[in-house]
This record gives sequence, C-alpha cells and structure tokens, in this order.
Amino acid sequence: MITEPLIFVATSDIAGKLRGKALLTRHLKDGQAPEVGWTPTNVQITCFDGIAESPYGALGDLVLVGDMATRALLDFGDQGPIEDFVLGDVLHLDGRPWECCTRSLLKSALERLQSSAGVTLFGAFEHEFHLPHREGDKGEGYALSAFRSERQLLETLMASLAQASIGPDTIMKEYGPDQYEVTVKPTSGVAIADQAATLREVCRTSAERLGKTLSFAPLVEPGGIGNGVHIHLSFRDSKDRPVAYDAAGPHKMSALTGAFIGGVLHHLPAIVAFLAPSVVSYDRLIPHRWSAAFNNLGAQDREAAVRLCPIRTFGDRDVAAQFNFEIRACDAAASPHLALAAIVLAGVAGIEADFPTPDVTAEDLSLLPDADLAVRGLRRLPTSLDAALDELDASDTVRGWFPDGFIDIYLAHKRDEMRTLAGKDDAALCAAYQAAY
Ligand code: GLU
Ligand code: MG
Repeated sequence: MITEPLIFVATSDIAGKLRGKALLTRHLKDGQAPEVGWTPTNVQITCFDGIAESPYGALGDLVLVGDMATRALLDFGDQGPIEDFVLGDVLHLDGRPWECCTRSLLKSALERLQSSAGVTLFGAFEHEFHLPHREGDKGEGYALSAFRSERQLLETLMASLAQASIGPDTIMKEYGPDQYEVTVKPTSGVAIADQAATLREVCRTSAERLGKTLSFAPLVEPGGIGNGVHIHLSFRDSKDRPVAYDAAGPHKMSALTGAFIGGVLHHLPAIVAFLAPSVVSYDRLIPHRWSAAFNNLGAQDREAAVRLCPIRTFGDRDVAAQFNFEIRACDAAASPHLALAAIVLAGVAGIEADFPTPDVTAEDLSLLPDADLAVRGLRRLPTSLDAALDELDASDTVRGWFPDGFIDIYLAHKRDEMRTLAGKDDAALCAAYQAAY
C-alpha cells in the first residue's frame, strides 16, 4: 500500500476537542513550526457537530501554528499508521493571538500569574475514564482481576504516553464499574494542559488499536460513578524552588497558595461552566459523590472543590516539593487549556485582592442551611449547566478577564449544545456524551 506520512496540527477548542488539519511530514522544515489555515467559525462547532451562532459567519481567516515541543509521535509497532500530531496556537494573520484560542488564553493567564506573583505553575491533570470490558463486571474496584483483564491496553497506553514525552505515573482500575484512572508526572506552565489534551487522544488511539473504545465523559450512565478530572497544582519560583508550601502556614499553605485558592473558590460558581461544561457534568457535581458540590477547601477530603493533597513524611523526603492542591470540579468535556486558564485567572484575582487563606471545612456541608454556609463564604455550586452559564453570563468580573466577545461566543456555543439535547432523557444524555468524549 502506498502511503504518505502526515502530521496533524491541532487546537484544543472550546468543545474540549482537538481539531485541526494535517500536512505532509516531509514538508516540515527544520526548526520551523508547521502552519495550517483556520476558520473563525470553527470555534462554534459543538461536541455534537452542530454549529452554534457565530459572530464571524463565513468571514475571516486565521492561522493555526503548531508547537513542535508538544509533538506526539507514536509507533504502536502493529503495522498500523504512525500517529503524529502537535498542539498549536490559533493566531490572526499578523501573528497576534486569536481571542478564542484556548492555548493563547492560558499563556496569557500564566503571564499574569508570573507578573503578579513571580511564580510558574507546576502540576498535572489526573483522568478517570470508562472502558467497557467485560459483560456483567460489577464490584471490581481497584481489583487486580479487573486490572489484569485490561493489562495489555493499560501497558500500551503507558508506553504511548512515554512516546508522547509525557511522564507516565500510575494507572489503576478505579472504583466504578468499567472505570480506570491514569496519572502522569507534573510539568510546568502551558505544558500542564498540553499534556492533558494529548493524553486523552493517546488513550483513545491506544484503545482503538486494540479494538476498544474508551470514554472520558463525566457520566456514562444515570446515577453512575462520575469520571472526574482532578487538576493538581503548586508553584515554583524563578529558581525552580517549590513555594506553595509553608511549614508555618495553615495546613502548610503559603500565603500565596491561600490567596490563590481563595480566589479560585470565590469565583468558582462563575467559572465552573468552563470546568464542567456538559449537561451531565452537573449530575456528577452533587454531594456524596466524591467530586465537588460546594466552593470549599478540604484537607485530604475528596468531597472538596479544592483538596489539599497528602504529604508522605517518612524517609528522607522533600515535603515542600510534594505539597500540592487539587481542583476536583473539572471533567473532560472541558478544554484543559480553557479550564486551567479560568482557574489561574481566578487565582490571580485572589492574589491581587490579597484574599485571606480560606478555612478548611471538615463537616458534611450538604447538611447545613444556606445561610450558615453564606456567613463562611460558602455556597452550593450551580446545579445545572444552564445555571452555571447564567452565573458566568452575569459575572462582569470574569468577563473582564477574557478578551472582548469571548464569553458571549462561549455562552452561545454551550447554549446551542444544550438545545441539541432538548427532550432527551437521562440515559440518552449520558449516551450522547459518552459518544462525544
Ligand atoms: N470519581 C470521582 C469524581 O467524579 C473521584 C473519585 C476519586 O477520588 O478518585 O471526581
Ligand atoms: Mg480517582
């Protein structure tokens, strides 16, 4: 069979999809970034392939410029095609970042973090996914038996991550039926989100090569166990020293960490539409599901929107380097770049307003009246995508963090996605998102 190797240049778009175009690998010039043309209205292609109302219509042209540092070049050794793609930035034709480019939005948020606090973000996304494997498999949470039945895929997947220059960490059979989880080594800056976007495709391709289909959808069956995306974060200073930790701070948080988390929690109701952007996301974000239902901080509490992660203190370990906090409200319907941009911008707002370090909650918040929560700055997160979009719509503060027009484009996109689903029952909603993600 004749063949011409191709490299795909992709943008992580607001539907949380990688979309782009391919060019001939042999046309890549040494040291030069690959480029393809891009159309503004593509940003309104929803996860169900509708096109939401677009202010651009049929007009305009952009350029999608690949970043070769993100290249995923995977040879599965199965005689199949080499998988080859890079992530990139969508730019205006004069090279300015485009207002709807999620990767450019994240870069600018990270610059704001650097200029307001002098730190670099360090972290990793942790992903849960659903892999239908054995008829009638129930109750095999963390079991070796269920792990073993997918060992071939899990080993292919970890090998593929390494080929994509992502540091594989751990992989497990999660608690839910057919549910697995993969974690990767942390990295810095925009690469944190690049890794997440790449990982989802690497997982999908690995499964497809073995004749399987996996899904990162937030919920695959009504009332089922959710697939979360937990974003682990900390900070490094200009000498690459960990600065999220302070041995003398409350729960070992530095003042910087406290103010950042304070900002994230304060603004979480208005930005959760970026983190949990599907209709079924809100059937995951309810109390007692080990996700996030309130804008609270917990210490080693898996019901908190932000959780302080554990530190191992035995042996000769660097505790400061281990210290990190985890944002638990996110899922994989979100663009990792856009979700992380929103988190960083909320955190920077907290730093700039000198927010106090939030108190750690220790009780079941779902048992407390709203008024008792309110005096502590706590509240229930929006309980539907519709409500989350309305909170985003109403927040002039959040609008001010993003380029003109971006929020309205995002709202139009998501409201169109919701209209597509009108009339579907819970099972049909889950099935639609399972197929999309
Ligand atoms: N599946 C849970 C979620 O939806 C997370 C469980 C865990 O703590 O790993 O976020
Ligand atoms: Mg998990």
